[in-house]
Amino acid sequence: EALSDVPGHAGLGRIWQALPQARLVGGCVRDLLCGREVHDLDLASPFPPEEAQQRLERIGARVIPTGLEHGTVTAVIDHHPYEITTLRRDVSTDGRHAVVAWTDDWQEDAQRRDFTINAMSLDQEGRLSDYFGGLDDLRAGRVRFVGHAVRRIEEDALRCLRFFRFFARYGRGEPDGEACQAITRLKDLMTRLSVERVAMELLKILSGPQLLRTLELMEETGSLAVLLPHHAPLSDLGRLLACDDPSEPLHRLAVLYPPGGVDGQGLAEVGVHLKLSNEGRAMLAALAKPEPELAATLDDDGLRRVLFQQDRSILLLRSWLVQAKELGRPDAGWDELRQRLEALEQPIFPLAGRDLIALGVKPGPDMGQWLKRAQHWWLEQGCRPDAGACRAWLAGQLSPR
Ligand code: ATP
Ligand code: MG
Repeated sequence: EALSDVPGHAGLGRIWQALPQARLVGGCVRDLLCGREVHDLDLASPFPPEEAQQRLERIGARVIPTGLEHGTVTAVIDHHPYEITTLRRDVSTDGRHAVVAWTDDWQEDAQRRDFTINAMSLDQEGRLSDYFGGLDDLRAGRVRFVGHAVRRIEEDALRCLRFFRFFARYGRGEPDGEACQAITRLKDLMTRLSVERVAMELLKILSGPQLLRTLELMEETGSLAVLLPHHAPLSDLGRLLACDDPSEPLHRLAVLYPPGGVDGQGLAEVGVHLKLSNEGRAMLAALAKPEPELAATLDDDGLRRVLFQQDRSILLLRSWLVQAKELGRPDAGWDELRQRLEALEQPIFPLAGRDLIALGVKPGPDMGQWLKRAQHWWLEQGCRPDAGACRAWLAGQLSPR
């Protein structure tokens, strides 16, 4: 099968014109082989980066030297970026920085990759190079280190997290014993990794379809306590995670932390500790707040009031969490509540400063007070009155009796 036919990647053919020896490598090979959607195509070639750049420019590609010291250039063809990296072998690693040298030996390059399923390559005729049994492992759902697990983790402790990431996505059956023993022994090395890298891997782990099994494995190897020390016990999470949305890793993180937290360490703190984006932190902080609460007993006025005070998706998720914790999964009542909430329009308080000025209120602290009182009244009315009704109420309040 001609690989330049990979949907959306006609540019591959052009790359092979410039670099006939180049091969697809890493995650894209793995995902092509198991029929998953492939997002980025990464290539490797035996040409030193400067030569690869020249050859690509000769066929008219725009080339960005994105990581010359790692041997990586990015070729942009039809607005599509392709990363092309020179084959490398490890000269030395101290657990943080790897010193690499260029090579033209494909197996040497494969050897420095983390897992057998990530160490395969495909040339332009579609021929697979699989030096370590990656295809068999992929078919069997085995995540196995290339080489000795202990050595590979000592070189780079992030590989513990990567093990869980790939297990959560591809793992089936019993996890690799050597890997689990090595992680159990070396888990504390993860504390030396930068928080940003850990957080990125954690979010990927949390997106995996095999999350519960992976969390159990993280607990068995002692890794979960190292990474998320104040999480809730896993015992009740099974049914909970089964009905959650894997594309929302922060939702799944929320499941791991009960509202209110454990020992004063809750979701909000985790968001800060993991240095998540402001958006991510705000979401976790909002989920950790107990108020305002969504309840099936609220009428539409009540729902609108709650909706004015809190983001819709946060409300839904938090009530889902509470329900699921109590019942194992949300019941029909929750579904009805969700539908009612989704049918409501987002309430917007209809008055602004200029409406008050028009009513004769002087700009200053008074104005803020009056706005607050008007909003309070509007909330009590179920967030329904329009600007006209609010102005009329305010006029009544302002006019001397
Ligand atoms: P994803 O689909 O999640 O992006 P991926 O396999 O492409 O998975 P990347 O983190 O993008 O994962 O890395 C690309 C490739 O680089 C991997 O497939 C692996 O061969 C190699 N690699 C990345 N990080 C490491 C590491 N820490 N140690 C060894 N090899 C690594
Ligand atoms: Mg990738």
